[in-house]
Amino acid sequence: MKIYNTLTKRKEEFVPLEEGKVRMYVCGPTVYNLIHIGNARPMIVFDTVRRYFTYKGYDVNYVSNFTDVDDKIIKKAIEEGVSADEISTRYIAECKKDMEGMNVQPATVHPLATQEIGGMIEMIQTLIDKGFAYPAPDGTVYFRVSRFPEYGKLSHKNLEDLQSGFRAIMVSGEEQKEDPADFVLWKPKKEGEPYWDSPWCQGRPGWHIECSVMAKKYLGEEIDIHAGGEDLIFPHHENEIAQSECCNGRMFARYWMHNAFLNIDNRKMSKSLGNFHTVREISEQYDLQVLRFFMLSAHYRSPLNFSAPLMESARTSLERIVEAADRLKDRAAGQETQLLDSEKALLEEAARFTADFEAAMDDDFNTADALAAVFELVKFSNTHAGDGCSAAFAGALLDQLTMLTQILGLKVSREEQILDEEIEDLIAQRQAARKAKDFARADEIRQELLEKGIALKDTREGVKWQRI
Ligand code: AMP
Ligand code: ZN
Repeated sequence: MKIYNTLTKRKEEFVPLEEGKVRMYVCGPTVYNLIHIGNARPMIVFDTVRRYFTYKGYDVNYVSNFTDVDDKIIKKAIEEGVSADEISTRYIAECKKDMEGMNVQPATVHPLATQEIGGMIEMIQTLIDKGFAYPAPDGTVYFRVSRFPEYGKLSHKNLEDLQSGFRAIMVSGEEQKEDPADFVLWKPKKEGEPYWDSPWCQGRPGWHIECSVMAKKYLGEEIDIHAGGEDLIFPHHENEIAQSECCNGRMFARYWMHNAFLNIDNRKMSKSLGNFHTVREISEQYDLQVLRFFMLSAHYRSPLNFSAPLMESARTSLERIVEAADRLKDRAAGQETQLLDSEKALLEEAARFTADFEAAMDDDFNTADALAAVFELVKFSNTHAGDGCSAAFAGALLDQLTMLTQILGLKVSREEQILDEEIEDLIAQRQAARKAKDFARADEIRQELLEKGIALKDTREGVKWQRI
């Protein structure tokens, strides 16, 4: 299996630290709003990477944080007149709903920055003790980049260039830095902000230190893969490396993976341009499986452009797979349970699509080519699993199609494709039946939904449903 490593700028054979195990850390979102479709890209991409490792027999420990203390969260809390905690709790819950809709599996652990402050203070103290960090008179603690000769190795930047760049943009208050490229590990509180006691001042951690600490706590000092969007390479990941390697005295992550950006109509997505879509907005128009399909239709290191026609084409393509699965399912319910001789040879031929799929995924997770292999299988099924094929043959092709699409996290059976509106519609019908005292019909609808993987709960606020 080959992975493109940002650190070496090469595709490298994946060799785990411990046989059969993958320790993987993915930087998660800052939770001050509904996540946007740009945030969805690393979620979907690295969830697929995780699923593929699992398919290959690895035991994956997948850690992804929520940044729940940050300027943007505090700003939003002040705007709404509520606590920062209320904002982050609300948007973590919303993010988890979106993740579920996109079929992104929950991480093994989703640590929260605010729950790990003790570990951060400890790491900062170690860095100070070892001479890699220093407190300024106002209680800010800075990392001393000049003490880490490898600073810049991930982003392939040169320290002198960085120093002159930072010197040009120094703002007041930063004169206390020894070097313009030094970065913050701990900062003093401002009025009305959440804060914690520390040996240096009451304040809060810088952003970078949280990931170094959480990765160490949940995965160990040395990890296999660290991932995130390409905007995180500098300074975030560069600074994580500096902190972790200076504190622990060993290499931090072996492989650094970064997804390219998602643009909208060929422009950078930004609030000021107004071309901003949340995942929630998209879910009102499309099943989020379509969004997932769309994201996987490009290689994760290629920039991807989001547009309505491309989403429509993703919808049509996904529908082709669903229709093929549907047909195979019907045929697999047929009478003839023995494979015909001609079908045995055809199944051997179809094994090629799994091999092609694996070859694509083994080559730095080329999901675009992996999807092409899925479509070859769809075409093959449509051609060969027609009238008169055995149930066993259709069943075998369906199993193969299901296995490959599951690795990509795509749900292709009709039952799984049930849309929110259909669910709401059935719930309304059930309520009407209950009102008319037709309890048999009401139960029937509940059962029908259950078979489609939807559980109902009657609460005081009305009927709630959830996918199970
Ligand atoms: P943030 O909440 O800004 O820290 O972002 C969370 C994750 O989403 C990070 O891995 C970012 O790199 C990634 N991300 C943000 N915007 C985009 C985008 N437009 N395209 C792809 N990834 C993005
Ligand atoms: Zn991070």
